[in-house]
Amino acid sequence: MTFRFDNSYARELEGFYVDWQAAPVPAPRLLRLNRDLAGDLGLDADRLEAEGAAIFSGKRLPEGAHPLAQAYAGHQFGGFSPQLGDGRALLIGEVTDRSGRRRDLQLKGSGRTPFSRGADGKATLGPVLREYLVGEAMHGLGIPTTRALAAVATGEPVLRQAGELPGAILTRVAASHIRVGTFQFFAARSDMERVRRLADYAIARHYPALAEAPEPYLAFYEAVADAQADLVARWMLVGFIHGVMNTDNMAISGETIDYGPCAFMEGFEPGTVFSSIDLQGRYAYGNQPFILAWNLARLGEALLPLFDADAGRAAEKANAVLGTVGARYQARWLEGMRAKLGLAGAEEGDLSLAEDLLAAMQRARADWTLTFRRLADAVTEDEALRPVFQEADTLQNWLSRWRRRLAPEAARRIRAVNPIYIARNHRVEEALAAAHAGDLGPFDRLIGALSDPFTERAGLEDLAQPAPAGFNEGYRTF
Ligand code: AMP
Ligand code: MG
Ligand code: MG
Repeated sequence: MTFRFDNSYARELEGFYVDWQAAPVPAPRLLRLNRDLAGDLGLDADRLEAEGAAIFSGKRLPEGAHPLAQAYAGHQFGGFSPQLGDGRALLIGEVTDRSGRRRDLQLKGSGRTPFSRGADGKATLGPVLREYLVGEAMHGLGIPTTRALAAVATGEPVLRQAGELPGAILTRVAASHIRVGTFQFFAARSDMERVRRLADYAIARHYPALAEAPEPYLAFYEAVADAQADLVARWMLVGFIHGVMNTDNMAISGETIDYGPCAFMEGFEPGTVFSSIDLQGRYAYGNQPFILAWNLARLGEALLPLFDADAGRAAEKANAVLGTVGARYQARWLEGMRAKLGLAGAEEGDLSLAEDLLAAMQRARADWTLTFRRLADAVTEDEALRPVFQEADTLQNWLSRWRRRLAPEAARRIRAVNPIYIARNHRVEEALAAAHAGDLGPFDRLIGALSDPFTERAGLEDLAQPAPAGFNEGYRTF
């Protein structure tokens, strides 16, 4: 099996990683191959079905692979850890996809590394399939994301708080695995030469046009700010809660990365938190835009010595970029909200039109996804929102204000941007429980729905429904 690796990180960034090998596993078995993604990567899916267990467990990596553990640091829940790094993952190499984009292949759950800090380096079946599933959901929604290429069961039991769980390894495909925390690792060691080399590498890989900018590092900072602001706006528009927006989980590429205790919100409430480890609600739904800016401030600090000026002026320049993050985010969000509402063009009162709907949604804890989806029917039917609001009368004023602003073919436009299917918590749990019992049927069915979330299909009605009353109240993700 040939992968045509071209491992630029290994070649150009010596000192930014440790060469390492995957730990042997007793009985690797390929659970799922993402054939769609394999095709994008120009890989032979049929051969991968046959050889995937060995390849994606790290047992027999294809020729040209260069497995390594990347160094990074990060602010976790606001506190700085100078050394995190790939504690249970290995970058195995880079390939060029069919559209010419360089993509990382990473094994996650492949055993201990020098960055494991006392932990076991393993991953378990539930979280591996969860990351696979939510990544595919995001991809289906058109939101930049890492994706799973494969999930392998290792045949090894892994000890967790809940007891022994089946071990698994995820193969993750990313534009790169460079994070805010990768810069922080070297900045924290005052190794500005390496911060510069990493910035040069990241510019060449992700923002090549900026190499010619008058101040490339400042332009790079701005480009990352823009990409991450756009990403978080997209999350907010679909009701996604990342759950662990630590600086080591914010990719420089602007892709969503590291699906752990993430979830989609059902009833709209800005304070919604599902993560079992987010006790203060730092990463609550409504806080995400603020954390975006907080994390970008940390990136600015790491890059500061690269900005072409004395220290005082460099800080001013960084602050000027940072000062635009809120407006960038707000502009993307409003643009996306106008599309969700099916509005024609842009007008002064659009923000308050959106905010008034959100206020009503919050009062009624209306289902985020179904409210926007049902707006397509509400274009012509007064009662269309009643099932999601239970108090549709209060919306009559709003509906008439809104209808005056509708674009031609509004219903069609609304359906094109507001999904009918999202990865609802109870469906994800159901799919994972079945997988634990050896049945990947519900997992496949859910992924099938999520791969085209905007097209309502017969036979999938149950997947569009909110969770049974009360399910999400005590629900926690890990
Ligand atoms: P995460 O919470 O997945 O973003 O990971 C934060 C840090 O903890 C990273 O450095 C991970 O490599 C490390 N980590 C998480 N789980 C494990 C594990 N089971 N074994 C070793 N390192 C881990
Ligand atoms: Mg992480
Ligand atoms: Mg994680």
